Amino acid sequence: MFDSNAFIPIAKPYMDEREAEAARRAILSAWVSQGPEVAAFERDFAAAVGAKHACAVSSATAALHLALRAVGVRPGDEVITVSHSFIATSNSIRHCGAKPVFVDIQPGTYNIDPAFIEAATTSRTRAILCVHQMGMPCDLAAVLKIAGRYALPLVEDAACALGSEIKVDGHWQKIGKPQGDVACFSFHPRKIITTGEGGMLTTAHPDYDKKFRLWRQNGMSISDTQRHRTPEVIFESYPELGFNYRMTDIQAAIGREQLKRLPELIGRRRYLADRYQKGLGDVLGLSLPETPAWAKTNWQSYCVRLPDDCDQKGLMQAMLDSGIASRRGIMCAHREAACQEDIQVCGSLLESEAAQDHCILLPLYPSMTACEQDRVIALVKHVLQKNAPL
Ligand SMILES: *Cc1c(COP(=O)(O)O)cnc(C)c1O
Repeated sequence: MFDSNAFIPIAKPYMDEREAEAARRAILSAWVSQGPEVAAFERDFAAAVGAKHACAVSSATAALHLALRAVGVRPGDEVITVSHSFIATSNSIRHCGAKPVFVDIQPGTYNIDPAFIEAATTSRTRAILCVHQMGMPCDLAAVLKIAGRYALPLVEDAACALGSEIKVDGHWQKIGKPQGDVACFSFHPRKIITTGEGGMLTTAHPDYDKKFRLWRQNGMSISDTQRHRTPEVIFESYPELGFNYRMTDIQAAIGREQLKRLPELIGRRRYLADRYQKGLGDVLGLSLPETPAWAKTNWQSYCVRLPDDCDQKGLMQAMLDSGIASRRGIMCAHREAACQEDIQVCGSLLESEAAQDHCILLPLYPSMTACEQDRVIALVKHVLQKNAPL
């Protein structure tokens, strides 16, 4: 058994008295559900990513659902996406009554391979849902070209990608501007900043933003803040079917403090990723993540590909035995029992499956010390060099 004090988790949110104080402020204000803190968090967030509109919701899954609905995804439609993602990506398509059509990924970036999108289009294709997996921007230029050719809206699953950047026409832009029609972010504790649970939609289309605001509060025409402040009696109406996808003001107050830390959090992640790159670069058979020249990742996760003959689970167990958490490569939705119906596979998903079976994610979080990281590097080296063929 290991000393639990020395346990190295896969991730750890970075919060202190500032977040606690913000939550306290919201609680003592007596306005605890969606209100002024949510509105302020939306303004701060839009400024941080360079978006025209930002709308806060209860999770990225909720955000993806509303985004797909806003761009017109309806029952019976098809949406092209990847299987190689957290299951929320394809679940959100199915929540619209539509069918995910899975295409394979590029092995170096673990992102959608644009070369396979065109073959997946049919007369029922209503949208493309691309993912910036583990924070690494996908090849948006190529995906947007195909989306444009087929007049398909593009929704970006940017759950992991807050603070990541992409070069467009020679200029760096933040993910979430967005480059597509809508981008969706997550504030789950495994992501870059956290509000416990939470999500955000960004868009340049005012009509989409209006829909998000209507749909997140059960389709109610006026918000609680509007009704609270008005000097005249007003009655709300319910023009459309909606959901309860509200974020609370307690969460938003925490989110605003987290957002102030963003440059520092990403700086730490980049420093640690660089140390992994240096520490693991010479391990025979181990493939480290590739960063295209047009991308800057936030290193939400650090994923390494093991040699094909390496026992993935054995290595993970050896790590756990010495008090180091890890995770296997990102899941493939099409392999899960929940996804045996109402989905479609286009072409082979061999790269997606290989990434799940031969990759592991190493611990990486802003408060990780160099000393902790050296323990991870030493252990991976120790196990792999023994397993390596002579
Ligand atoms: C975490 C994650 C989600 C879901 O985010 P929630 O806020 O937990 O709903 C969706 N897509 C991807 C790629 C994710 O990593």
